[in-house]
Amino acid sequence: MNIYGFTYAQLEEYLRQHGEKVSKAPFIYQGLYKKQIDSLLDVPDIRLSLREQLASDFSLALPRLVQQTDGDDTVKFLFSLQDGSLIEAVLMRQAYGNSLCISSQVGCNMACAFCQSGRFKKVRNLQPAELTGQIIYIQKRLHLAISNVVLMGIGEPFDNYDNVMQFLEIISHPRGLALGARHITVSTCGLVPQIEQYALHPSHGLLAISLHAPDDETRSRLMPINRRYPVTQLMNAARTCIQNTGKKVMLEYVMLQEINDHPRQAQLLADLIGADDFHVNLIPYNETQNLNFTQSSRERILAFYDVLKKNHITVTMRREFGSSVNAACGQLRADYEKQQNT
Ligand code: SF4
Repeated sequence: MNIYGFTYAQLEEYLRQHGEKVSKAPFIYQGLYKKQIDSLLDVPDIRLSLREQLASDFSLALPRLVQQTDGDDTVKFLFSLQDGSLIEAVLMRQAYGNSLCISSQVGCNMACAFCQSGRFKKVRNLQPAELTGQIIYIQKRLHLAISNVVLMGIGEPFDNYDNVMQFLEIISHPRGLALGARHITVSTCGLVPQIEQYALHPSHGLLAISLHAPDDETRSRLMPINRRYPVTQLMNAARTCIQNTGKKVMLEYVMLQEINDHPRQAQLLADLIGADDFHVNLIPYNETQNLNFTQSSRERILAFYDVLKKNHITVTMRREFGSSVNAACGQLRADYEKQQNT
């Protein structure tokens, strides 16, 4: 068992089952997440026999770093998991701290047309310890403090719902990494039942929805999931989330030249949002090698932005992160596997 996959409550249960006092749990969690110990024999302030028991029952295994690519504002990591599966994480250095974008699955079944990751079918879900491990590796081995975590790498987090929820409980625990809900963002391509379920847990982080088109015709072409959960149903689920949590929902909108970037589509998007508490994030498309999409021109992005602004929609334009380091999700893995096969 990997201890990085254990919630605080599970750790307390383990102690109880071993006839130990639950008052030991804070020392173990603090040892793991604050002191970042390398061996469970080093947990501070508990007796040797319990430390030995922990060390024999649990592993502290982390993903293995296969490749690191440094850019100006991003660092891209390719990790190998214990079964040899490859996943990616991207560190983004921002004015307010380091954000880490992590993967939630090996591959992805959602098949979004503009996404390199969608070309690798899902092999399996990541376990809670493999989700936590991506953060711990960066903090422990590279001595970088992570202040924000974004589940926007390879995979659809809500297609791995239970493990992702367990992971959120681990990283937000005050005795652990203590990441507050405003410092965690879960991004989904639009799995409506899971959005509705997630809306019942206001403490578990912000919600982002990869919308990318305001109408069913365009969205279904870009994202097959739209055929199962069309735009109106998706927006209704997002509204439920806003009402239940009292937090804004982010709408991610990747700008694709001549596909979804017409001012008419901006107006449609504004009408769809109305007066509700959404935040639109316009993202310049990160052009990958083998996909037939082009990044919208700056003029078209600005025109789109202006329409939203005129309609009093909260909108930002994301800086293009990581084009120099193959940071479009799935791209590093694709390049690495190509190199291995040549
Ligand atoms: S954009 Fe996200 S959900 Fe869509 S295929 Fe890529 S990884 Fe999967």
